[in-house]
Amino acid sequence: MNCTEAVEKLWQYLDRELDSDTVAEIERHLQECRDCFSKAEFERHLRLILRRSCGCEQAPPELRARLHRLLGMF
Ligand SMILES: [Zn+2]
Repeated sequence: MNCTEAVEKLWQYLDRELDSDTVAEIERHLQECRDCFSKAEFERHLRLILRRSCGCEQAPPELRARLHRLLGMF
């Protein structure tokens, strides 16, 4: 799996919508790739914060875009 594939599947991974083979592939990639690992951690934290503050799973698209720009991600 390369970075593009990993990032494309990241949301599904966090939503646990993938089969166990794909999950294993992503986890292997995250262990080897710091870049994708920090993206995954960022998304995970973002979700935790959102769940705590407003009970929703996903940030509004414009907020997500702003945060990603801010962090130079995606
Ligand atoms: Zn990567």
